[in-house]
Amino acid sequence: MATTPVRLRGALDSVPAYVAGKPAAAREGQTVYKVSSNENPYPPLPSVRAVIEEAAGTVNRYPDMGITELTEALSEHLDVPPERIACGTGSVGVLGQIIQATCDDGDEVVFAWRSFEAYPIVVALAGAESVRVPLTRDHRHDLDAMVAAVTDRTRVLLVCTPNNPTGPTVTHAELLDLVARVPEHVLVVIDEAYLEFVEDDGSQDPVRALEIHQAHPNVAVVRTFSKAYGLAGLRVGYAVAHEPVAEALRKTATPFGVNSLAQVAAVASLGAQEELGERVAALVGERRRVVEALTAGGWEMPQSGANFVWFPLGERTPDFVAACADAGLSVRPYGTEGVRVTIGEPEANDRLVEVARSFACLEG
Ligand SMILES: *Cc1c(COP(=O)(O)O)cnc(C)c1O
Repeated sequence: MATTPVRLRGALDSVPAYVAGKPAAAREGQTVYKVSSNENPYPPLPSVRAVIEEAAGTVNRYPDMGITELTEALSEHLDVPPERIACGTGSVGVLGQIIQATCDDGDEVVFAWRSFEAYPIVVALAGAESVRVPLTRDHRHDLDAMVAAVTDRTRVLLVCTPNNPTGPTVTHAELLDLVARVPEHVLVVIDEAYLEFVEDDGSQDPVRALEIHQAHPNVAVVRTFSKAYGLAGLRVGYAVAHEPVAEALRKTATPFGVNSLAQVAAVASLGAQEELGERVAALVGERRRVVEALTAGGWEMPQSGANFVWFPLGERTPDFVAACADAGLSVRPYGTEGVRVTIGEPEANDRLVEVARSFACLEG
């Protein structure tokens, strides 16, 4: 790399690069699918697209800096006071604000690993230290070990449920127990990027994060419009936190960060719950179909509460990725740990099942 006389922050040396999901390589005579970034395969709803197009006519103006309408709409939708809501440029933006608002140099942030790619990045950018607590053998958060990893320097403990990239959820009882064992000055952040895809068949005790937030001043919830709501390209997410924390988050926001198209699209999406809910239900149905087919084919995979499935392939990871590419599927490998594949269009899901079946046979 070329040198520079400019003094850059040393902390940047420990910032890992974000490995984004690759687009599928074009192939002659074959439709290709990008199932590497947990995106929603559905294009925007016509009603949402219409407000985006209308707002396009006013992009010479700055957006509403107070994000008033969206905050009000969220307040109503979630039944929490607007003072407890802080929006940001995607929940990755919000997570960055959380670390900036809580961590000085050398402070620690505890999270499970593997988990969301962006965690170590936002932590390192703030000059803080990532404390990665390995998942259990069944690909879940090891909550006992996470509690044990808390030190005097810990400022934040992140819980990702369902966990990206492995899929399992943390239960309500487990999370309550965790919060009871973590010191009150540590902010517990529940990242619910995939909340809408969690199925509640009565057996799984899914987290009721807002309820836990309500009862504990050190619990915040982070959500996004990128996944179930299908607005990944617009970059908008939010935190629900107690007022002093939410105010600190608003202070750390990039001024005018949440753009005007994102603001109106998010409000319109909150008003289109029913149509969006149908899409989510269809994706959850597809996930069930894929998992059943794979399980019937002998695959053992962790239960997913999200819009993706995890193949714990170890050393066979690159071979599986190559087999998927041959079938026109761009998937997301994680070193030699495994492969995450997004539930996409039915055709993409069919191909995944087919690839996985013949792969299991070849190896088997
Ligand atoms: C996708 C994702 C997010 C959301 O990202 P945005 O910045 O809102 O697009 C947050 N957390 C996890 C775990 C995710 O997988």
